[in-house]
Amino acid sequence: MLTSLAGRTVIVTGASKGIGKGIAQVFARGGAKVAVVSRNLGEAEATAAILTGGGGTAKGFAADVSLQEDVEALATAVAAEFGGIDVLCSNAGIFPQAKIEDLSVEEWDHVMATNLKGTFLSIKGCLPYLKKSNQGRVVITSSITGPVTGFPGWTHYGASKAGQLGFMRTACIELAKYGITVNAVLPGNVLTEGLIDLGEDYCKSMAASVPLKKLGTVEDIGYAALFLASKEAAYITGQTIIVDGGQILPESLDALKD
Ligand code: NAP
Repeated sequence: MLTSLAGRTVIVTGASKGIGKGIAQVFARGGAKVAVVSRNLGEAEATAAILTGGGGTAKGFAADVSLQEDVEALATAVAAEFGGIDVLCSNAGIFPQAKIEDLSVEEWDHVMATNLKGTFLSIKGCLPYLKKSNQGRVVITSSITGPVTGFPGWTHYGASKAGQLGFMRTACIELAKYGITVNAVLPGNVLTEGLIDLGEDYCKSMAASVPLKKLGTVEDIGYAALFLASKEAAYITGQTIIVDGGQILPESLDALKD
């Protein structure tokens, strides 16, 4: 049994839907005070209302993680509302598909600004408050795509997700003196609104390529994040947890036949 996070403040970026919403739900059920963040305030507030309706403590906030002024204002507002920041789940991310020949410089920059710069800015913005926590935690949502695997159309996305891990491996050293740990969860294919947008064929073929024969749930990622944010994970930093149903392991399609 993990020590409860009851009363601790958690910011989850990209939490109006998808994996972020799952992370927010897991932390809210654990008694944490949850800041639900997305660019669309109405959607963030709607998700926060679901959490409070279930007996949790939550509030919606609007911020674009690619904008420094937004993230700094977010950190100030969350600390004022909940009395500090103990955990940052840097989860907001986008994954538009375009092969190199069709990939525009603007789209490359947009993905990098959201996924990679957004992680840097979120940590930088929350840092003054995480330093004051006696159990500061950063949990980054990376991906198997980039750090471990590849998929046509996702050079920019894969680079951003691998980049998050390169960033993490030095950030964890810099922040260790404040007792802050920085770790990452690498989801495989998780059934979210964003994944559904990629189409039924994509989801079906992905599920078939997973040894556990199903896509992940948003809560599967939430539980891994909860562990990394727990008191019990205090001596783990700069590490990754792959949550993918075994997807990266088969050497060929034959390996999945039984
Ligand atoms: P999703 O269903 O599309 O949800 C994305 C969330 O991020 C929404 O709340 C969205 O709200 C928010 N968001 C997007 N851009 C933002 C920005 N610039 N600033 C603040 N919030 C922003 O996506 P998902 O599938 O849950 O993916 C979430 C994270 O998991 C991403 O980092 C993704 O790379 C990673 N991941 C997902 C999978 C998967 O299978 N689903 C696998 C591996 C990794 P707004 O649009 O209102 O801002």
